[in-house]
Amino acid sequence: MKVAIAKETAPNERRVALVPEVIGKLVNAGLEVLVESGAGEGSAIPDSAYVDAGARVIPTSQVDDADVVLRVQKPSAAEVKKLKSGQTVIGLLQPLIDPQTAQALADKGITAVSLDALPRTLSRAQTMDALSSQANVGGYKAVIIAAEAYGRYFPLLTTAAGTAKPANVLILGIGVAGLQAIATARRLGAQVKAYDVRSETREQAQSLGAQFLELKSVADAAGTGGYARELTAEERAAQQQELNGYIGGMDVVITTAQVPGRRPPVLVTADAVKLMKPGSVIVDMAASDLGGNVELSQPGETIVTDNGVTIIAPTNLPATMPAGASAFYARNISALLLHMVKDGTLNIDLADEITGAVVITQGGKVVQEATAKLLGIEVEKPATEPEPAPEPADDAAPADDAAPADDAAPADDAAPAAEPVIEPEPEAEIIEKVLEEEQAQAEAEAEDPIATEPVEATATEATETAETAATAEEPETPLTDGGKA
Ligand code: NAD
Repeated sequence: MKVAIAKETAPNERRVALVPEVIGKLVNAGLEVLVESGAGEGSAIPDSAYVDAGARVIPTSQVDDADVVLRVQKPSAAEVKKLKSGQTVIGLLQPLIDPQTAQALADKGITAVSLDALPRTLSRAQTMDALSSQANVGGYKAVIIAAEAYGRYFPLLTTAAGTAKPANVLILGIGVAGLQAIATARRLGAQVKAYDVRSETREQAQSLGAQFLELKSVADAAGTGGYARELTAEERAAQQQELNGYIGGMDVVITTAQVPGRRPPVLVTADAVKLMKPGSVIVDMAASDLGGNVELSQPGETIVTDNGVTIIAPTNLPATMPAGASAFYARNISALLLHMVKDGTLNIDLADEITGAVVITQGGKVVQEATAKLLGIEVEKPATEPEPAPEPADDAAPADDAAPADDAAPADDAAPAAEPVIEPEPEAEIIEKVLEEEQAQAEAEAEDPIATEPVEATATEATETAETAATAEEPETPLTDGGKA
């Protein structure tokens, strides 16, 4: 089976789907790995490195001859047109943001597999979790760009020329990106405060050396699967009001808050920005065309407000650290591909929890419920081999012929005999079930928040940073007094 790595064409995308380090595993699994010439350029990986690792470099015109095309981002409309029926495309296809591309892929007879549909709480899917690996890169890079834009030191410095106070950094949203942002800001020596609507994040933030901000106005808003639920309008207003009391005292604010399938909540209002000192910096990691966590942020832009606050709203931070991000992504996508490969060929088994969740289109149809719902269509199961009729009325008649042969049987009665063998549960139900199981497990493990943290790198950092935190001058008590503590 031929597996091709496509060169990314989205603006400013410098990542590549596979790095040479993972090619050996694919070759060992019986796959022929092809690399579009120049695919690794943005990540400083020359074609020769892929060749040395066992891949073959091909011109762009041959990418669409591959059985499977691996990508980071979804294909453009022009690229979809060039794909051939029967091919499989794997990448971060964002079917819930752009269901039309999923429909176009289905129309072309392409099997679309999207890493962002992975059931993330399944422990055996963690190596495939590209959302986490890329959020980790983003959280790190957000702090780096904030530090660069901030005209002062992050750490406390005492020198002959005077003393520099440590920067006060606030991280809003303590998911994967937020945890990495806390760890990075702490490593740079900042005083870090952090807040999330899920109260279980308190211990995680503290273990990384941050002070947890506890708002009186909003109760715990944990949803399912470790995600937050959307706040009500009243809760949102109360939250913004209370956060305003803290934000004015911050030098740097980094926002990472997301609610799956919803617009990101506004956490930093224009009024809050007015309270900040000139020279302060905000990085809105949630910014996109859907909105962001910062009322004034402009996706993809950096603006400086009238009161001298810099608001940075990057839309693709992982692409700004392409070699590191690609290395993680390559492990995620190759793990998912190998999960679906059997005897050197692709074996799409929709009954499998992971495969059933990530396959968006198959057999000319959109098969993932959530995407189909957005498109306003019923999920039609892909054609599968009909099950032989259990006991045909006529012993001599083959199962497939049983229904039509039996004139007496009404059409409706005949249908069950021809039901597909594979009747996978809807993706949402599978995830729901898995989430319930994983949540129960997470609750059981709650005494050790680091052990439950899914991102291995963050867990390591948690340990490392916890040691640093032991010597930090900051008290580890939650803030309850309006941020003045
Ligand atoms: P995310 O990107 O969806 O959101 C980031 C953070 O924003 C979340 O922590 C969320 O609670 C927070 N948030 C949302 N609305 C908010 C508001 N109004 N105010 C403040 N904060 C708000 O989340 P994510 O980083 O993708 O992951 C979220 C959770 O999923 C984490 O608990 C993570 O550990 C868990 N997760 C688990 C696994 C696993 O078990 N294998 C894998 C990945 C993620």
